Amino acid sequence: MKVGIIGSGIAGLASAVRMALKGHEVTVFESNNYPGGKLSAFELGNYRFDAGPSLFTMPHYVDELFELAGENPRDYFGYEKLDTVCHYFWEDGTRLNAYADKQAFAEETERVLQVPAKRLIKVLRESERKYELTGRTFLEKSLHRVDTWLTKDVARAIVRIPTLDLFSSMNRANERIAKHPKLVQLFNRFATYNGSNPYKAPGLLNIIPHFEHHIGAYFPKGGMHAITESIYELAKRKGVKFVFEATVDQIVVENRKAKSLIVKGQKHGFDRIICNMDIFHAYRQLLPDQKAPERILKQPKSTSALIFYWGIRQNFSELGVHNIFFSEDYRREFAEMEAGKVFDDPTVYINITSKREPSDAPAGGENWFVMINVPPNTGQNWEEVIPEVRQNTLKKLSRMLKVDVEQLIECEEILDPVRIESKTASHLGALYGTSSNNRMAAFLRHPNFSNRIQDLYFCGGSVHPGGGIPLCLLSAKIIDEITD
Ligand SMILES: Cc1cc2nc3c(=O)[nH]c(=O)nc-3n(C[C@H](O)[C@H](O)[C@H](O)COP(=O)(O)OP(=O)(O)OC[C@H]3O[C@@H](n4cnc5c(N)ncnc54)[C@H](O)[C@@H]3O)c2cc1C
Repeated sequence: MKVGIIGSGIAGLASAVRMALKGHEVTVFESNNYPGGKLSAFELGNYRFDAGPSLFTMPHYVDELFELAGENPRDYFGYEKLDTVCHYFWEDGTRLNAYADKQAFAEETERVLQVPAKRLIKVLRESERKYELTGRTFLEKSLHRVDTWLTKDVARAIVRIPTLDLFSSMNRANERIAKHPKLVQLFNRFATYNGSNPYKAPGLLNIIPHFEHHIGAYFPKGGMHAITESIYELAKRKGVKFVFEATVDQIVVENRKAKSLIVKGQKHGFDRIICNMDIFHAYRQLLPDQKAPERILKQPKSTSALIFYWGIRQNFSELGVHNIFFSEDYRREFAEMEAGKVFDDPTVYINITSKREPSDAPAGGENWFVMINVPPNTGQNWEEVIPEVRQNTLKKLSRMLKVDVEQLIECEEILDPVRIESKTASHLGALYGTSSNNRMAAFLRHPNFSNRIQDLYFCGGSVHPGGGIPLCLLSAKIIDEITD
């Protein structure tokens, strides 16, 4: 069978490996001159930066690809578990380390916030319980096939619906269990892992801390880009053909069957097509004559981000790989984002890979990936917004770290929602496809297959089960499971 794949994002790469392992002849067309989409990297002066994702959880979904191919993942891709998952900072001087070890994390919250250790353990257990009840069905299976719903797992979850916080917000559920305002804010932050708003998104999303605090946060050797590189190389070893600087302009459909792809005016015939392009643009650009699922395409988008990549000529011993500097008014920060604006006291995330890979920065320096969650691009004047956010971010970090950060910046690059869209064709620059604020959001994502067009499949952050590296990998796995 000849399989054509549109896009080499992480889901496109994983799909390519899986299709090649079924014995198919696979060709991947990619607009850029590099693989990985959002999961790419670049160098600036003497600094190396991962361009997009920085947090790596559920590494077994990467390992699985090598194991399926009969290879030992450790021969090609290595990673280490982080002892400290995140360093949290508040304006009043409070600093808290979220340790991977649950007991150590609980004791830290007791020491720093005077919250009884058993309360933190209870919050994490609750996250685990929700994941155990729903995770396998909602993330690992197609929600759009009858056989998914005829299982014991689903029956168990349905009976427990009243206890899953589907009808209250993440914030309300966290206020009930975590109670302490700083702990509530800390757990509310997990909404941003799929670009949602904790004051709107259902409490069921409190399964997200389970990924980080039970399964763990990992650091890939060589940085996040090693995920792309290792899967890309695996795909090539399995015979996948990559064509770069090759934008697909159309999916040709004949008699309700996906037949071929038009690339640079040439028609390439395939027996199966897998589309890793954002679902909105896939319908609007590649399938303009086909009836589009308007209700799905009109879903509100997840948040986007403004990223400042700064080469910093100083070492900060108080910082780790992942660091959060919280806003003083989290509710208002999200309200402003809902209104399409960026709060002037934003929560700032800093990722520093040189903490683990010293060669990512020159001696005595650090590579700071500084990210602020912002609304998707709905026509804001980013030329005006970016300098304002940059100033507010610098002021906040300088205040909280007690040093003039601006004069430490040796080199700088900026990524904004408009550039995210132009580099990866992600509608409005959303990081994770549609937002998960609606309690029915999981069902309002596009299925991994077309109901109308035979032999057309979809993978990646804008379709089921959603954005983020592990979920993108799962979308490829679902296609694998439902095809020959
Ligand atoms: C700044 C940022 C931070 C993030 N942080 C995290 C994080 O910490 N952890 C995490 O798990 N996730 C994170 N994410 C989300 C994660 O990066 C995405 O969910 C994931 O990488 C999306 O992969 P994808 O397979 O959907 O494809 P994408 O990465 O969106 O790539 C799609 C590819 O398809 C190509 N393409 C599109 N249209 C065509 C066409 N017509 N013809 C040919 N090629 C085409 C594009 O050029 C692109 O290469 C972050 C994202 C960003 C941008």
